[in-house]
Amino acid sequence: MENTEESRNFIEREIDKNLADGVYDTVHTRFPPEPNGYLHIGHAKSIVLNSGIAKQYGGKFNLRFDDTNPTKEKSEFVESIKNDVAWLGADWEDRLFFASDYFDQMYEYAVKLIKKGKAYVSDLNAEQIREYRGSLTEPGKDDPNRNRPIEESLQMFEDMKAGKYEDGSLVLRAKIDMASPNINMRDPIIYRIAHLTHQNTGDKWCIYPMYDFAHPLEDAIEGITHSLCTLEFEDHRPLYNWVVEECEFAHPPRQIEFAKLYLNNVVTGKRYIKKLVEDGIVDGWDDPRLVSIAGLRRRGYTPDSIRKFVELCGISKSQSTAEMDMLEYCIREDLKPKAKRQMAVLNPLKLIIDNYPKGQSELLDAVNNPENEELGSRQISFSRELWIEQDDFMEEPPKKYFRLFPGNEVRLMNAYFVKCVGCDKDEEGNVIAVHCTYDPATKQGPDFKADRKVKGTIHWVNAADAVKVTARLYENIVDEEKGVYDEEGNVNVNPNSLTVCECYVEPALAEAKPFESFQFVRNGFFCADCKDSKPGAPVFNRIVSLKSSFKMPANK
Ligand code: ATP
Ligand code: MG
Repeated sequence: MENTEESRNFIEREIDKNLADGVYDTVHTRFPPEPNGYLHIGHAKSIVLNSGIAKQYGGKFNLRFDDTNPTKEKSEFVESIKNDVAWLGADWEDRLFFASDYFDQMYEYAVKLIKKGKAYVSDLNAEQIREYRGSLTEPGKDDPNRNRPIEESLQMFEDMKAGKYEDGSLVLRAKIDMASPNINMRDPIIYRIAHLTHQNTGDKWCIYPMYDFAHPLEDAIEGITHSLCTLEFEDHRPLYNWVVEECEFAHPPRQIEFAKLYLNNVVTGKRYIKKLVEDGIVDGWDDPRLVSIAGLRRRGYTPDSIRKFVELCGISKSQSTAEMDMLEYCIREDLKPKAKRQMAVLNPLKLIIDNYPKGQSELLDAVNNPENEELGSRQISFSRELWIEQDDFMEEPPKKYFRLFPGNEVRLMNAYFVKCVGCDKDEEGNVIAVHCTYDPATKQGPDFKADRKVKGTIHWVNAADAVKVTARLYENIVDEEKGVYDEEGNVNVNPNSLTVCECYVEPALAEAKPFESFQFVRNGFFCADCKDSKPGAPVFNRIVSLKSSFKMPANK
C-alpha cells in the first residue's frame, strides 16, 4: 500500500494490526443499507470507505440490504440503492445479500441461546420492560420471567413463531446483566412478535429479530471481518460482541465506529428528505437540490467528484461538519478540464452591430477548452444581431464596470472588439437593445493584433441561429438565515431555491444528451437534465457557478 504510516486513517491502522496479529487473514467489509429511502451523501462516505478498504486490502465487499424490519421497506428503494452504489463505483460482484434470507438461521441462533440459558421468553409489556430497565444512574431490576425453565422458553418461542400469540404479548430477551452500566446490555429484546407481511418472506414469519441481534449475525454469517459503522453504535458494541461470542462463531467480525458525515446547512437525514418529497416541496428523491445520490447525479455531480469529497472529509472518530463549498470545489475541479466550454446567454438582451452588413454572416473558430486540447475546437456563426447578457450593459455604470456602456469598447469572446454607441428603450424606459460598432481589424484568432487593449470580455450567441432552452439555477433548499429546521423539526425552505430562465445557447447544445455537462462560460457548469430534457430540447441544471470561496487546506 502506497500511503505512509502517518497518512493512514485509524481504521486502516486497526486493520493492519489485526492482520499482523493474525486475528484475520483477509479483509471483508459490507455496506448494509436499510431499504427505506434513497441514499444520500452521508451514505456515500460509508460506501466509499467500505468498498475502498476491501479493494485496498485485496478483500471482499458485500452489498447487503438490512431488510429485517417489515414495515417500511419498498422495492423501489432496493433498486435505487443498487443503482446508486454501482454508480459510485463500488463493486459487490456477486455478493448481493438480503438480511431477510437469514431469518431461518437467526431463529436457530435464538434457539441456541435459549438452550444455553442465554435467552428467555418474557411476558412483560413494553412499559414494564422500560420500568424494569432502570436508568443511567440506577441499575435495572430482574424480569420475573428471567428464570423461566429453558424447556418452557423453547416451547413458547416456537409457539410465538407458530403465530399462537398476539403482537406485543411476548418477547425474547437475551439474558445478560440487568445491572450493567451499559443499558444496551440489560437483557435486550432480541425477537418481537409482529404479524406483518414482509416484502421478501411474505407471511412466513410473524416474529422478527431486533436490529442489535440481527446485525451481528448478518455480519458473522457472511464472514465479514470488519463491520464499519457510525458512532451512534459505539455503545452497542458490547452487545454486538456478546451476540457473536454466544452464538459461537469461529471467526467473529469486529465492529469499528467512525464519525458520520454531516454537511452544514444541508438536509441529509432520510426522514427529512422523505418529508420534503411527500410534501411536494421537491420534485422527488432525485430533485437536483437534494444531496441524495440520485439528486446529485441528476444535478450533474460525477462519482469522481463525490469520492474526492469523501476523501477530503477524511475518516475519524470525532464528529465534524463539512461545508457544501468543498463539495462544489470537487465538482468544479473534476469538470474544469473535462467539460466543453460553450456560450449561453441566461438573461438575453439584443446587441445590434450597426456597421456589420445586414444579411451577412461568418463562421468563427472557438477552442472548446483551453485547458484540454483533446476537446478540439468548433465553429460558431456571427452576424449583425446577437444576444448578450442583460447585466453586461449599463447605461450609467458604476466605477470599475468594464463591460458595455455608451462609449466603451469590449471584446466579444471569440469574435471582435465592439464599441457601444447607445441603446433603444421601450415606453417604460427599459433597455430593449444595445447598439455598437465593430472593428474588423480586431478579429480574434492566431493572427490577432490590436493597437489597443480592452478591459472587458463578454460572451454572446448569434441571434440568427441561437436555440432557446430552459435553464434552472439553484440555491440551497434550506433558508440559511433561519437554519435547517424550525421548532417543529420541519425544514426551513428557501423560497428562492429554484429560478427558471429561458435562455439562448449555441445551436449545438440543442443536441446535449441527458447527463452531459458543459461549462457555460462565465455562468457556471451545467448538466442536461435526465428527466425533463426532450430530444432537441434539453433542460439544463446549473451544477455550480464558477466562483468559489473555498480554499483547499494546505495539507491536502
Ligand atoms: P439516515 O440517518 O439518513 O436515515 P441511516 O443510518 O438510517 O441513515 P442506513 O440505511 O441504516 O441509514 O445506513 C446504511 C449505512 O450507512 C450504515 O452503516 C450507516 O452507518 C451509514 N451512514 C448513514 N448515514 C451516514 C452518514 N451521514 N455518514 C456516514 N455513514 C452514514
Ligand atoms: Mg437507519
